[in-house]
Amino acid sequence: MTALLGHLVIAAVVALAAAQARPQPQRDSAHARVLVERQAFLMGTWLRAQVVAANREAGAAAIEAAFAEVARLESLLSSWRGDSEVSRINRAVPGVPVQVERVVFELLSEVWEWGRGSDGAFDPALGALIEVWDLRGAGRHPSAVELEQARKLSGLDSFRFLPSAGSVVRSQPGSWMSSGGFGKGAALRAARRVLLAAGVRSALLDFGGQLLAVGSAPGRDGWRIAVAHPSRRFEAAAWLDVGNRSVATSSASERFMEIGGDRYGHILDPRSGRPTPAWGSVTVVADDPLLADLASTTLFVLGPEEGAAWAKQREDIGVLFLWEEEGRVVAWNRNMAVWLTESED
Ligand code: ADP
Ligand code: MG
Repeated sequence: MTALLGHLVIAAVVALAAAQARPQPQRDSAHARVLVERQAFLMGTWLRAQVVAANREAGAAAIEAAFAEVARLESLLSSWRGDSEVSRINRAVPGVPVQVERVVFELLSEVWEWGRGSDGAFDPALGALIEVWDLRGAGRHPSAVELEQARKLSGLDSFRFLPSAGSVVRSQPGSWMSSGGFGKGAALRAARRVLLAAGVRSALLDFGGQLLAVGSAPGRDGWRIAVAHPSRRFEAAAWLDVGNRSVATSSASERFMEIGGDRYGHILDPRSGRPTPAWGSVTVVADDPLLADLASTTLFVLGPEEGAAWAKQREDIGVLFLWEEEGRVVAWNRNMAVWLTESED
């Protein structure tokens, strides 16, 4: 009997970073495994999961458990939902500590610590800037006065953390935090824990462009992952073979708005208060999905020049900058050689 896996045709996922599983026919049908695929709309985007399991039921159950965990984190972290822990912090009376769930407190502390080490490039407390640029709507150009006001309301110091009490203090009215720069990474970290606990040893999750590879694709050394062209996101510009890691890409070609004929991405440079120019894309490979998410946003803000200097000081991440010069893709990478591969197959 040919194993089920051999008959599965897997469609290439065309996304910011696309991934393809290339299963090999199984020789020993006693150990036949199936590839189960599901997708769910979570955290404002599609989460697509491929899990290799002993049978369809086991695979589906593992994916459902992982999706439930992501939904749980969304209900804690979303600033779009009034009932989340983050929204409760965002509504807090200035100066009055708000006790938050331990997992949220620990995650936010970790994210703030990252922000402090990011040379001003990563700031989750930039809600006021998101508002004046109308990043959640059609986009608009703020006046100089509005921009100045929003900059004063942003910044890591807009929130204080009291570890012994596990509470957070909002410093001034009008300041609020967005989990957009770390929520998906935190969710993939939690999803991996759930998948491993369910016995999954091979899986690929694609969360709106950030990927999580558990183990390797069947019969291969990793999961083959396409890195999109820096300005044409449906075209691959590089390929990676990645196992047991997360891959996050930040660019301005995925989501952007046009204000007065200019294109703006959804990543802001907290140092200027303005959207980061659309210079290209940065892809980060890390053990920890949260680290990959934080680092890709940070490096996108820093850009290839400042970002390269910054990346050289870190041995725990792989970094690939891609940009276009005179119609050709230019690449700069650090610690990526082990994963970069020549072609699509
Ligand atoms: P993507 O949605 O493509 O994964 P990112 O992970 O880079 O993008 O996160 C972008 C989101 O993070 C924005 O929608 C916004 O909510 C938030 N954000 C934007 N700029 C910053 C920044 N400099 N630091 C922290 N968070 C940011
Ligand atoms: Mg990110």
